[in-house]
Amino acid sequence: MARCDNCKGLLLISRTSFAGGTFCGAGCVEKFKIALTERVVPAAALADEITKIHMAACPVCKGPGPLDVYEANKATGMLVAYQVKTLKRLSCAKCGRSLKLQAAAHCFFLGWWGLHAAVHTLVYLPKNLIGAVAAKPAPEPSQQLTRLVKIRLAEASAQALQAAASES
Ligand SMILES: [Zn+2]
Ligand SMILES: [Zn+2]
Repeated sequence: MARCDNCKGLLLISRTSFAGGTFCGAGCVEKFKIALTERVVPAAALADEITKIHMAACPVCKGPGPLDVYEANKATGMLVAYQVKTLKRLSCAKCGRSLKLQAAAHCFFLGWWGLHAAVHTLVYLPKNLIGAVAAKPAPEPSQQLTRLVKIRLAEASAQALQAAASES
């Protein structure tokens, strides 16, 4: 029986593959990618890359950074069914704020059509609005940004990293 390359759990249901390994789900692939980057990329190079992405121009509006990972939650009611989505986006604070405001508007108009959706909307609507007000340029790279950079580095050089990891 195959096992997850991150948590060593048995792979019974879904499996995700990355760089020749198999994993039980997206969470384990993420942890594996982060660990791989930490193990293989020198700390100074990693810090450089994090600073570079933190201070880069916003990929959404092309305006100046600093950038951060902004999250918003969307609840959609469809009478009997409902859908809840977490959106994550790397952007400047201004675009992060508009992402949260869009999600709040979505909840406001579409989040009430069903009991489950309404319950989520009661949580997400204020959370998105408060988050939008609180969205400020991040003076330091956040933990979320650091994670994203590590995951991207692992993805960008999956094969090279894996070869280096198997030698060490
Ligand atoms: Zn796992
Ligand atoms: Zn922007």
